[in-house]
Amino acid sequence: MYEAKPERRELFNKLLADEKVQKALKFIEDDQERTKEELKKLVVIEAPSWEEENRAKAFAQMMIEQGLTDAHIGAGGDVISVRKGTTDGPKVLIEGHMDTVFPFGTVKGVEEKDGILYAPGIGDDTRALAMLLCINRALSAAGITTVKDVLFVGTTREEGLGGLGGIYDLHESRKDIGAQISLDNHNMAAITYEGTIGETYEFKIIGKAGHSYGAFGTMANTVHAGARAVAKIADYQVPDDPKTTFCASNFHAGTASGVHAFAPEASVIVNFRSNSDEEFAKMKTFIFNAFEEAVREENERWNKEPLTLEVKPISITPGGKQDPHCALVEASQMALEELGVKGFLSQGGSTNANIAISRGIPAVCLGRGFVPEGQSGNIRNHSVDEFFPLYNAHKAVQHALLVLLMAAGVDGLIDPIE
Ligand SMILES: [Zn+2]
Repeated sequence: MYEAKPERRELFNKLLADEKVQKALKFIEDDQERTKEELKKLVVIEAPSWEEENRAKAFAQMMIEQGLTDAHIGAGGDVISVRKGTTDGPKVLIEGHMDTVFPFGTVKGVEEKDGILYAPGIGDDTRALAMLLCINRALSAAGITTVKDVLFVGTTREEGLGGLGGIYDLHESRKDIGAQISLDNHNMAAITYEGTIGETYEFKIIGKAGHSYGAFGTMANTVHAGARAVAKIADYQVPDDPKTTFCASNFHAGTASGVHAFAPEASVIVNFRSNSDEEFAKMKTFIFNAFEEAVREENERWNKEPLTLEVKPISITPGGKQDPHCALVEASQMALEELGVKGFLSQGGSTNANIAISRGIPAVCLGRGFVPEGQSGNIRNHSVDEFFPLYNAHKAVQHALLVLLMAAGVDGLIDPIE
């Protein structure tokens, strides 16, 4: 049983007992039709990573129209706007990412059937943008002023090779972010409070070309060296907990016409991740050594025309740990309980929260939608069949609002939790 610290419980109860806060919660429920229409509007403005500009402009315009008049496209293409609080200290950032994994031309429209919206990117993470708009409206409608400023941000380049680039640029460009709430889990019950460390490299083994028969014995073989390295990595032992993973995801060598030839190059891409600094460091050393040893062994085997190794980083994701009883996690748990949802702490994560956590800034990643207990809630994100169930979806918005108010504080009612 997860118990929040009594002083935080007291603040939370005070928050809930407030008339304005209740008004904001009710507003969110009543606002779902509009939130849905905004989601439908945004999802058809396609936004592959690095090409979010059209969606960014539309999102900024929608922010401006509802009173966030400073909304603008800033660092790294992020849409940034501030909702003023009563103090000038560190701000609370609430954000969703604007980019999707789909190239232009993928989204043909939105289909709505039996309370479900279908469109690529409808959940991940377009829904978060609609949530931000709804939360801002709810604060205005209820007349709530926060203690800390709230930064509403739509970020770029979260997905894939974007490598959390938009949120990284935001943190690089401003040092006034004191806490971060990301909205990017499909299930509101999941509270992501850790950042899995992950790195991806291309290991390229470079040698000479030659005939498979004619040149045999005169040169080392790039494909054999790559295979030696992959075989070593395949046997690497990792703990189940903390979760630690590795995956050789690509192996490219040779050409269609070179079936009887030594390939002059073999390239292997390896991604590896861990929720433990030590396990990560150990594994990284092992993987790098595996390639060096493989090349050395292959060179020693033939002792002619030696191979060389080139290593290129493809993506580097920092991470880190937080106390499961840090303020944001406790606020998230209490708010879920209040909404009748059984929360769980999801181990690890590769979300925009990673960047904050790696810098020692408190952060959580929360959910976008409601999943009935006992169901997996797989919304097929990252596939063209992606869908978003509308049932109880407003609860995810209410959840984000309550956590935001705990983090930012409410003027005349509660101080921000620390
Ligand atoms: Zn996402």
